[in-house]
Amino acid sequence: MITRLAGARVFDPANGVRGEKRDLFFEDGVMIAAPAGGVGRSYDLGGLVAMPGAIDIHSHIAGGKVNLARLLMTEEHRSAPVARGAATRSGGGVATPSCFVTGYRYAALGYTAAFEPAMVPSNARSAHLEMADLPIIDKGAYLMLGNDELLLRLIASGAEQERINDYVAWMLNATASLGIKTVNPGGISAFKFNARGLAIDESGPQHGVTPRRIVQALARAVFELGVPHPLHTHCNNLGIPGNVDTTLATIAAAEGFPLHLTHAQFHSYGTEGDRRFSSAAARLAEAVSRNPNVTLDVGQIMFGQTVTASGDTMAQYRNRGLASPDKWIVMDIECDGGCGLVPFRYRDSNFVNALQWAIGLELFLLIEDPWRVFLTTDHPNGAPFTCYPHLIRLLMDRSFRNDCLKSIHPAAQQATTLGSITREYTLEEIAITTRAAPARILGLAGCGHLGPGACADIAVYAEEADRERMFAAPRYLFKSGVEVARHGEVLATPAGATHVVRPEFDRAIEAEIGAFFHQHMSFGFEHFRLSEGELADAGLRLLAQPCRPRRRA
Ligand SMILES: [Zn+2]
Repeated sequence: MITRLAGARVFDPANGVRGEKRDLFFEDGVMIAAPAGGVGRSYDLGGLVAMPGAIDIHSHIAGGKVNLARLLMTEEHRSAPVARGAATRSGGGVATPSCFVTGYRYAALGYTAAFEPAMVPSNARSAHLEMADLPIIDKGAYLMLGNDELLLRLIASGAEQERINDYVAWMLNATASLGIKTVNPGGISAFKFNARGLAIDESGPQHGVTPRRIVQALARAVFELGVPHPLHTHCNNLGIPGNVDTTLATIAAAEGFPLHLTHAQFHSYGTEGDRRFSSAAARLAEAVSRNPNVTLDVGQIMFGQTVTASGDTMAQYRNRGLASPDKWIVMDIECDGGCGLVPFRYRDSNFVNALQWAIGLELFLLIEDPWRVFLTTDHPNGAPFTCYPHLIRLLMDRSFRNDCLKSIHPAAQQATTLGSITREYTLEEIAITTRAAPARILGLAGCGHLGPGACADIAVYAEEADRERMFAAPRYLFKSGVEVARHGEVLATPAGATHVVRPEFDRAIEAEIGAFFHQHMSFGFEHFRLSEGELADAGLRLLAQPCRPRRRA
């Protein structure tokens, strides 16, 4: 049956549609051109705004640390229960929502995809099983490498780039991942040997490998394997005053290969002023405009209670004294990496928190190209994703932003240029930064646009001057052509797809990986690799996104 959505102002930046009135058509979950014959069902969307479903490029929605965060924050579940609905299960949590509630809440905000950015290899099976329980939205995961024992050994022994590429490709296939993430490259390994910091050119205590070398090797591997999404990079020295120098050095370390900097707000700090903590957002924004190979997501913080959940054990151990409420977890996982949970309450009356808030907004507003900056709160690290409508209003409404600015710590108001920035995001720019651009940087061919052949993921909003209200409860959300939410209420819960990449590799690498597993890992090489059959049995529908042909740079 063909469905027509008639008369909305359509924002489809990938296809150059910039708010013109258009009719949209889809059939069997896929967008089609205007049909010659009749349609089976029609929605009158006159006066409304339609966009592709939104895509969250970086949100902690599954895996070991998400579950540990739920365990740590039981009071959060008690305080925010969600009752069973006609189409939905009960659940709870805001910063640490249950799997089901995560899917419902994203759909209620007009989102149709979210990506787990820190899957530990040995936890991939569990993470995928949890994602199978996330209703409605598409998902996928970036695999954490860069502190895993075997990669560090390969680099330390001078292995050729081709062997590193084979290892990375094998890992992506074995764990059904969409991309590669590196977290505090080398630093988590160093933490296990009692280091409390690792500078970009400092040799790690066990293997003598520097973070710069890890970034070089992985950024190049991802490019040469033809994986669409650049190396997703959580730089060293998260949260430390002056860390912008590390961030800029990390850009240099990529040597022109594509690089995505994640939660850049936490990596944009200088040391100026009496308090030795200042905004370096302008420096990073300049670097982004000078380096066309670089994209970033912001990781905006919002004031209120949340929990930080990170693979960066070194940073989380450092922050444990700031835990609010006062409890925390830091742990090591196999020979793969680490994980740490620290509850956090960001306060507008706290100078550092207030300036962090302003730094995130400066990044959004100073980076001119909306195709290269993505809207995230690093859920739940900066704030729960439910804050997105509020964040969109901050970006689109200067007088609202300036009113909020007046309520933060006075010294932070003095330390930011935010009040002098006149830019307001347009609806087209919101459609780029939350839809078209994330789909493009992730290589999702059928998402983030509304041209023929695209998935019929469509969010429809009533245009309101108050952009927070507008984006908080879309009038309609269609997922693969199914009306899944209306006025922010979930009506149906179909399962979304799991996006993966399947780059080629030379099977000779398996002997080396097998021998390493046999000697060092607590489970067998034969059991590590996820089979398509077991993932299908768990309800996952894998969608392999094409890689470019493998090549040597
Ligand atoms: Zn994150």
